[in-house]
Amino acid sequence: MKEKKKKIKIVTQELMQTAMVQLRKWQANREAELECPNCGAAGLKIKDRSARPHSEWYAFKCKECGLDDAIHIPMASHRSSM
Ligand SMILES: [Zn+2]
Repeated sequence: MKEKKKKIKIVTQELMQTAMVQLRKWQANREAELECPNCGAAGLKIKDRSARPHSEWYAFKCKECGLDDAIHIPMASHRSSM
């Protein structure tokens, strides 16, 4: 039986950058295999939770390590590199 783990948040710059790489991969291909930015396990889930016209929210979840957080992307800086 598995013990309940603490939820892991995307708090460091390093984690955020790795999360962004996975997010871009997911945006390019919704079927892509994603890796957890925290533990590297396959099966990371990303959910689009954007609700407002000026920002985007993406929820990240990993069942392996308990990563559970959402990152916020302002629209202005987003799309500019695409
Ligand atoms: Zn993980």
